[in-house]
Amino acid sequence: MVALPNDPLWQEFLAASARIGGDIGLVQGAGGNTSLKQDGALWIKASGTWLAEAEARPIMVPLDLPALRARVMAGDLVEAEVAGMTLPGGPAGLRASVEAPFHALIPARCVMHVHCTDTIAMAIREDAEAQLRKRLQGLNWHWQPYVKPGVPLTNAMRDGGAAGADIVILGNHGLIASADTPAGARALLTEVRARLGGPVAATSSVMVAPLQGLSSTGYVPATVPGGHDLVLDPDLRALAGNCAIAPDFVVFFGPNIPILTPGPDLPARLSALAAQPLPRHAVVLVEGHGALIRANAMRGTAELLAGYVQVLKRHLANGGGAIRHFTPAESAELLNWDAEKYRQAMNSGGADVAS
Ligand SMILES: [Zn+2]
Repeated sequence: MVALPNDPLWQEFLAASARIGGDIGLVQGAGGNTSLKQDGALWIKASGTWLAEAEARPIMVPLDLPALRARVMAGDLVEAEVAGMTLPGGPAGLRASVEAPFHALIPARCVMHVHCTDTIAMAIREDAEAQLRKRLQGLNWHWQPYVKPGVPLTNAMRDGGAAGADIVILGNHGLIASADTPAGARALLTEVRARLGGPVAATSSVMVAPLQGLSSTGYVPATVPGGHDLVLDPDLRALAGNCAIAPDFVVFFGPNIPILTPGPDLPARLSALAAQPLPRHAVVLVEGHGALIRANAMRGTAELLAGYVQVLKRHLANGGGAIRHFTPAESAELLNWDAEKYRQAMNSGGADVAS
């Protein structure tokens, strides 16, 4: 039996988790995860839950740290084993994040993994490692080229020596920071973010050229900052369709975002797209107008779209450059992943997307 940690460090951990979860530039929807090692337990965010809610309700699940770490170090851990390492004492019905294995690999007491938009903007570049070397000088950091999240990523990190670094930049994915305290880990996130650009300027979430006839198409205008800029700004428009640049964009939007031309038959075309199984066409763009989101899209789709816009804007502000997109095989393995389907099921709903 593992008692819920009842000390100031635990409270600090939950507060820091909620704070980064509430920052759209660090975490979008159910993405990102934090962990704290305590008394042989790895307390980690549950799959499908939102870090922003870390103080509002129990979202941290305890895992048997020595057992998980031993399997990670042995190198033959399989994804399905992790749920069986759940210790009693946590909230019922929740399963640890699929990214739990690398939290066990990293020895520091507190690990924070975020989908920082400034980091992703750098980590999608073909020349990411060279760019990062210039900007992260003096920090104890490690570059990890893209590998599918979960056990494969953890194995690659172990083999590459990522456990010895305070900061790990994950190619086409995000950022990990670790320290003995939540405050220390959070300070590293702030430092990296500042070095890689900082937040982009806020922009309007209002569709300036509204579309008629959307009712009963299954789509509503997006109301996220800058969402409509994806087709109104020519530089963003040139990048916007191919969203296969980080795992959650693929998981929430599908392998690409359709860009449609307006016209009298637009409602009929939208209705046809809305009849396809999600996540395909969860977001579509209409030339000259803006972004639409499916009314039944997964909870978090609007937040992911806001993050996607920030990544592309930061990339352009950095001067652009060649982007490494996922291969179709890489996108397919993300969309067929059982653990992700579980997360999607946990995340289903979408009433807030339509409002
Ligand atoms: Zn991640």
